[in-house]
Amino acid sequence: MLIKADLHIHTVLSPCGSFDMSPENIISRVKALKLDAIAISDHNSIYNALAVKEIGEKEGVKVFYGMEAQTIEEVHILTLFEDWKRIENFYSEIYPHLPNIENDPDYFGDQIIVDKDENVIGEEKKLLANSLELSIEELVELVLKYGGFVIPSHIERERYGLLTNLYKVPDILKDSIMEISYNANLEEIFKFYPFLKSYSLISNSDAHYPDDIGRAYTEYEVSEINLKQIYKAAKEGKYRVIRK
Ligand SMILES: [Zn+2]
Ligand SMILES: [Zn+2]
Repeated sequence: MLIKADLHIHTVLSPCGSFDMSPENIISRVKALKLDAIAISDHNSIYNALAVKEIGEKEGVKVFYGMEAQTIEEVHILTLFEDWKRIENFYSEIYPHLPNIENDPDYFGDQIIVDKDENVIGEEKKLLANSLELSIEELVELVLKYGGFVIPSHIERERYGLLTNLYKVPDILKDSIMEISYNANLEEIFKFYPFLKSYSLISNSDAHYPDDIGRAYTEYEVSEINLKQIYKAAKEGKYRVIRK
């Protein structure tokens, strides 16, 4: 079957995420767009995915647990998991590598954890808009150790993109699929980085506001809606990027 998936969505927990990015608002927008699967990927944190998953399950939307990690090289990488226990264990190894710098909500925005009814149930005190004290290699190894999947985010983007920081794909990501920005221009990208033609290049919305959701997403040919199948479909070229 052909499914529509947007695997890069932020919530109110991301300091730059809109206050309107509540679990309820996210799922209602996802339903309106008829997306089959999404991943919640807040900056260096995981906790709001639970409430989105709870609502998504009732509404027939598959929700994957994720995080958008920022490595020491200032590169953003999506880390996606199927199973809550696994991402929780993974995150317990990540969190100590998040610098002990307190968030200033007035400057960066609040970092709020909510339940499905939009009750505030927690707040992240450490600033999430920061680089983990982990290299790309160390991060990827941890993701694989816990059975997750990696997709470098918006690799061609000037800020926090893999290629604009490193100008090449490090060995540990050679077999990875790659995300290009929601508004990326493939022709331009291939002009700068011709070697990318051999990679599977998917897109997601990287939504920080409800209206952003689905501004780009990817269709995958899968037999079941799970990350393994989605990743496999991407690797085998059984995907199509849709941009609004
Ligand atoms: Zn990013
Ligand atoms: Zn993002």
